[in-house]
Amino acid sequence: MSAQCLGCGMLVSAGVTACPKCDALLEEQTDGSVLHRDIAHQHETVAQAMCKLEQALLDCRQSHACGVRLAVGRGVIREEVTRQLSWLAMNGDILDFDHDEGNTGAIMVFMRRS
Ligand SMILES: [Zn+2]
Repeated sequence: MSAQCLGCGMLVSAGVTACPKCDALLEEQTDGSVLHRDIAHQHETVAQAMCKLEQALLDCRQSHACGVRLAVGRGVIREEVTRQLSWLAMNGDILDFDHDEGNTGAIMVFMRRS
């Protein structure tokens, strides 16, 4: 898998963190897009939902999205995801998340500044 520098368009191989041509930090680049993942509506257990959360964050890291919108429902999965995201935000693994969007059953996770 290869990636492309959004600054200069250079194709770089996976695992490279800085563009060899323009020195941009590739992991921090974003095209402003948002991924969408549903992690709670296939009768997932909490453990399965947490695996899907991890995968969603990984997908986001490997893409140029600025964040991922998670459909978490309104039950215990939402509580666990909120707890996990609080921890990740405290550790700086994610920028922030918005768990207070009214009653939509979704959480927006911000991974990069757009
Ligand atoms: Zn570049």
